[in-house]
Amino acid sequence: ILVSQPNYNIAVLPGDGIGPEVTSAAVAVLDALQASGPGFSLSYSEHSVGAGEFLKSGNPLPDEAFEACRASHAVLLGAMGLPGVRWPDGREMTPQIDLRERLDLYAGPRPIYLYSADDSPLRGYQPGEIDFVIVRENTEGLFSARGSVQPEDRLSASDVLHLTRKGCERICRYAFEEAMRRRKKCSLVDKANVLPTMVFFREIFDEVAKDFPEVATEHIYVDAAALFLVQRPQSFDVLVTENMFGDILSDLAAGLVGGMGMAPSGDIGTDCAVFQPSHGTAPDIAGQGKANPVGTILSAALMLDWLGEKEAAIRIQKAVKMALSNPAHRTPDMGGKESTGSLTEKIIANL
Ligand code: ATP
Ligand code: MG
Repeated sequence: ILVSQPNYNIAVLPGDGIGPEVTSAAVAVLDALQASGPGFSLSYSEHSVGAGEFLKSGNPLPDEAFEACRASHAVLLGAMGLPGVRWPDGREMTPQIDLRERLDLYAGPRPIYLYSADDSPLRGYQPGEIDFVIVRENTEGLFSARGSVQPEDRLSASDVLHLTRKGCERICRYAFEEAMRRRKKCSLVDKANVLPTMVFFREIFDEVAKDFPEVATEHIYVDAAALFLVQRPQSFDVLVTENMFGDILSDLAAGLVGGMGMAPSGDIGTDCAVFQPSHGTAPDIAGQGKANPVGTILSAALMLDWLGEKEAAIRIQKAVKMALSNPAHRTPDMGGKESTGSLTEKIIANL
């Protein structure tokens, strides 16, 4: 009897720098998973995006690639951008932010999980004892006013922190739903003691909280959150916050579990989602086989979880955990000698 199983079309965007190396590592893990008959199949279409594509075609995000992202079930992205590659008018190129805005990928979950005690600068934490998600608002806040012109007198400059009711409501709802799937705690990280926008955000958070009576809530100022993330990271489950605060705190949080090479991320909209490592293109180590593939492999797991393939996602996470349980299995950023490819093989062997 033939039982039809779901097939997911994945748009793969390797991008620039170490992007191609880490995405091909993640695809190798997905292929190995697929070969074991997980009850679904994946097909890929690869598209060129980023600074390299801009140098060829004049567009870092060609229409064909953008449409493929929209039409696929999910997108797996490496990283985009190279030093010195800018628009002709000198503006910084930000194709990943453009992709978020054009696909309205409002929710940015950044899961932080300690896979191995050796990798944390904090002492005394066992694997799994640091386990939280930062939910970053992706489409508004301080980053949404990009491109504002510098005043001609060059005596002042300003950026605008803009929040909308719709934007706050949907990110809070996303965070509470995430908390329901986890340990049922949701912390709002804001700066309501100084910024009126954050008083607004807090009011909406409290309104949405009423729909989730099972979830414990707290309000924390962003400065205190930075302290508590270092002092007692185990007290957090889901943290929800404004765009720039989320950007900063997720790098701090990645540092708690081994650094940028370890951290996955998602950019999630209502029916479209992009998954990529939290790090950038790391041009200093590109093409040398030194890149840590774990953040991208975990992003692929996050993608499977989002597609509804939770079991497969957990298999990848367990394989990463087993591979990292041997302290020798580390790329140079984590103090080891493994290459991108050899660490990927160790992870695949544990699938
Ligand atoms: P972006 O602006 O895109 O956030 P960035 O300027 O913050 O980028 P990254 O590209 O994330 O910088 O990298 C910063 C440094 O961290 C790199 O120079 C590299 O040495 C290191 N790094 C980042 N990702 C990895 C990785 N996956 N493996 C090993 N080292 C990495
Ligand atoms: Mg960065």
